[in-house]
Amino acid sequence: MQQPKTIYLKDYKPSPFTIDTIDLTVDIHADHSLVTSVMRMEKHKDSVGQKLNLELNGEGMELVSLKFNGEALPNDRFQLSSDKLVILNVSHDEFTLEIQNKINPAENKALEGFYQSGPQLCTQCEPEGFRRITYFIDRPDVMAKYKTKMIADKKQYPFLLSNGNRLGGGDLPGGRHWVEWQDPFRKPSYLFAMVAGDFDVARDTFTTMKGRKIDLEIYVDKGNLGKTPHAMNSLKQSMKWDEETFGLEYDLDIYMIVAVDSFNMGAMENKGLNIFNSTYTLADEKSATDHDFQGVQGVIGHEYFHNWTGNRVTCRDWFQLTLKEGLTVFRDQEFSSDMLSRAVKRLEDVRLLKDSQFAEDAGPLSHPIRPSSYIEINNFYTRTVYEKGAEVIRMIHTLIGKQNFRKGMDKYFELFDGQAVTTEDFVHAMEVASGRDLSQFKNWYSRPGTPTLKVTSRKEGNEFILDIEQKYPVPTVKVEDNNVLLMPFKIGLLDKTTKTEEEHLLELKNLKETFRFKVNGDVTPSLNLGFSAPVIVEYPYEVADLIELMSFNKDPYCRYEATQKIYDHVFKAEFYYYKANGKLNPELTSEFKNAFQNLLKDESIDLSFKSYLLDLPTENGLSQEMLQPDFDAIHTVHHHLRKKLGVEFQEWFLKEHDRLSKASKFELTPKAFGERALKNQCLTYLVTSETKAGMGALDKHYANATNMTEEVHALQLYIASGVELEHESIQKFYQKWKHDSLVMLKWFSSLAAFSPKKSALPRIEKLEKNVLFQKQVPNYLRALYLQFAKNNLHAFHDDNGDAYRFMAQRIRMIDGFNPQVASRAAGAFSLINKLDAKRQTEMKTALKSIMDDKPSRDTYEVISKYLAQ
Ligand code: ZN
Repeated sequence: MQQPKTIYLKDYKPSPFTIDTIDLTVDIHADHSLVTSVMRMEKHKDSVGQKLNLELNGEGMELVSLKFNGEALPNDRFQLSSDKLVILNVSHDEFTLEIQNKINPAENKALEGFYQSGPQLCTQCEPEGFRRITYFIDRPDVMAKYKTKMIADKKQYPFLLSNGNRLGGGDLPGGRHWVEWQDPFRKPSYLFAMVAGDFDVARDTFTTMKGRKIDLEIYVDKGNLGKTPHAMNSLKQSMKWDEETFGLEYDLDIYMIVAVDSFNMGAMENKGLNIFNSTYTLADEKSATDHDFQGVQGVIGHEYFHNWTGNRVTCRDWFQLTLKEGLTVFRDQEFSSDMLSRAVKRLEDVRLLKDSQFAEDAGPLSHPIRPSSYIEINNFYTRTVYEKGAEVIRMIHTLIGKQNFRKGMDKYFELFDGQAVTTEDFVHAMEVASGRDLSQFKNWYSRPGTPTLKVTSRKEGNEFILDIEQKYPVPTVKVEDNNVLLMPFKIGLLDKTTKTEEEHLLELKNLKETFRFKVNGDVTPSLNLGFSAPVIVEYPYEVADLIELMSFNKDPYCRYEATQKIYDHVFKAEFYYYKANGKLNPELTSEFKNAFQNLLKDESIDLSFKSYLLDLPTENGLSQEMLQPDFDAIHTVHHHLRKKLGVEFQEWFLKEHDRLSKASKFELTPKAFGERALKNQCLTYLVTSETKAGMGALDKHYANATNMTEEVHALQLYIASGVELEHESIQKFYQKWKHDSLVMLKWFSSLAAFSPKKSALPRIEKLEKNVLFQKQVPNYLRALYLQFAKNNLHAFHDDNGDAYRFMAQRIRMIDGFNPQVASRAAGAFSLINKLDAKRQTEMKTALKSIMDDKPSRDTYEVISKYLAQ
C-alpha cells in the first residue's frame, strides 16, 4: 500500500492566501445539502503581487459551480482532485470566490463534517472536518468572519443553529424556513458549527461581571429536560469561576449547548454553540453515577473555558494543540478543585495521568506534548497532549507562583487576543509577566517519555542530604543532546519523633544534583508533594518508612502514594510466592494488617479519600510495571489479596457499609460523594471475601440502591462474581433501563470489563447482536470493545490469541466507516512492546491482518507504530 504522507512542524509556512469573510448558505434536503459559500479573500502580505495557485481543501463532496469575482471559472482555470480544489494562477490580490457544492450528511458515518445523529443534524469540524462541508483553506491560522444561513423543513428541523448571534429568520414556501446567524469574532474553521433538529430546550440566563445578561440554552432530545439541571448549573458555575479566577467574561449574548448521541469525542467548544456527547450533558440521580456528575461538570467547564483559551487565542497549527488543550485541562482541573475537594481532585487527576498517560508514554505511541510530526492529527488528541500538557502548565504555575501566573494569563490575552499562536508565545507571556527566564523549562515541549528521578539520601552530622539524578527513557523522536528538564520538585521532611513536616520547593535543572538540609533528628523524606512534577520517583523506602508516611504525611497525594507503595510491596511478595510455590499465600503479615487497620479506624480521613486509600493498585497498573506480565497470575493474586483483606476485616466493612446505608437525601457534595464511594468500596471487599455475609450485603445493597452510583457498582460485582448472563441481577438491570440508552451503555461496558475470563469473549459476541447495541454509535463501540480490551486484561490477553483476532476483525469493520474510532480501538494493542513472545506473535499476526486490509490513515499510523516494535 502507498504510505500516507507525514507532516512536519519544521515545514510550517503561513498561508499565501487569507479569508476575510465567508457567507454560507446551507440548504438542507432529505438526500443532500446544498452548500453555497461566498468568500472574500486576500493574499497574505508577503504574497501580494505574485501569481499563485490557490489550494483549497475539500473531501467527500460534489462540486456544483465555481465563480471568481462573480464570473464562472472556465475548466482550465482550476483542478479538482479527491482532497483538493486548486484555482490556478491567481494574480488578483483581492477577490471573491463563490462555490457551490453538495454533501450528504445522512451517509456520513465518520462523524466529521456535517452528519446525522439520530434524527438530528450536527457538525464536527475540529481538526479538519470543515473541508467536508465546503472547499476552504482548512487550517487554524486562517481566521475569517462567518455568516451562516440555514434553510430546512420547518417541521422536521424547527431549530436551526449556528455560531454567534441570530440575525433573523422566516418562513418559506413548501413548509420550509430559514434562520441566519452571524459570528462577530474571527475564527478558524475548526470552530464552525451548525445544528438542525427538534429538541427540548432548557433555558436560563447569566449576568456577567459587567452586568450583561447572557441567554443560556441547552438543547436535548425530547423528554430529557429532567436531566439538564446539573449541566445548566455547571455552566453558570464555570462562567462565574472564570470571571473570579482569571477576570474573563463571556463575549457573545448567547451560549448554546447541544447534546447528541453520536459523537467521536467528549465535547466540542465551537464558538457560542458547543456540541456535546450526551454522556457529558445529561445526568440525574437515578441514571447517572457520581463519576458522571463530575464528568459533566468538568467537561462543561472545559468547553466553556476554551472560549478564551482556544477560541479568542487559538493555535497557529495543529502541532500547537497542547497550547489550548493542556492549558484548558489545567483550567478545568482548577475549576473542579474549587467546586469540590481539591485533595480528592488532585488524587484523581494524578491517578489518571499515571494509569493512562504514563502508559502511553512508555509505549510505541509515545510523543512530546508538542509533537514534531504526524500522519493524521486526529491521532494526537491524547493523554499526553491533554493531561501531561496540563501538568506542564501546572509546573509553570508552581515555578512562578499563583499571582505571576495570573499576570501571565493577562499578558497572554493582551499580546495575542484574536490571533493564532504557538506554545512559545504562551511561555513568552509567562516570562514577561514573571520576569523569569523559562528557556530551559521549554524542553518539556519537545522531550517525550516519562522521566525517572533516582533519589538517594545520606546523613552527615545534622545535615540530611538528597542526591537526585534525572533519567530519561530512549526518546521515540529526535531530541537535542542538551535537552535537560527543569522542574519544580516539592519535598517534605517528616521528623520521626515530632511527626512535624518541613516543606521545601526544589528546582531541578541538572542531570545530577545534591541538596542539603539542616535537621534536628531522623527524618523520612516525602517526595514530589502534590505531584509537583510528572515524573516517576524511585527512592529505596523501607516498609516502615512508608507506614510512617501513610500515617503522618500531611500531603494527601503523598499519603496516597505511600499506601499504594505498601500495597505494591505486599502484592509483589504474594505474586512471587504464588509463582514460586504454585499456590496462594494464606497469610497476611501483622505489620500490614496493623497498617490497614489503622487506616480503617482513622476517623479524621475524608471518606472519598479513604475509599481511595483502600483501593488496591489496579491490574492495569500492576501489569504496566511488569515486563512480560502474567495476566492470569496478576488477576488471581489481586483477587486473593483483596479476599484476604475482606475476610480479615469483614466486621469493619459490614458495619461501615451498614452505617453508610442509613437513608439520606441525595446530594452532590464532596461529603455525599465520599459516603457513596466508601460504601461501594466496603461492598467490594465484602463480596470479594466470598462469604455468605458478603453476598448477603450485595443482595441487600442492590435491592435498596436508589441511585446509579450504588446500583451499577452492585451490577459489576455480580458480573465479576461469575453469574450467568441470564442471572436475575443482570436481567433486572436490563429490563429496568432498556429505555435509557445512556444507562444501557453502562450495562454493556460492565459486562465487557468485568465478565470472567472464560465467558467474556463469547458473551461479547452475543452482546453485539443485542437489539439495543447500536453498532455505529461510538459510545457503544467504546463501551463494548475498548472496555473489554483495556479493562478486562486477563480475558483480552488470553494467550490463545482469540481475543486479539476478534478485536482486529472488529477494528477492520469499524475502520470502514469511522477511522477515528477504529484508530482509538487499536489502542487495545498498546501493550505490545511489553508482552512475552507468544502473545507478541499473536498480536502481530492480528495487526498485520488490519494492515493488509488497506486501513485508513488514522489506523495505519497507529498500527505501523505497534508493528515497528
Ligand atoms: Zn479541549
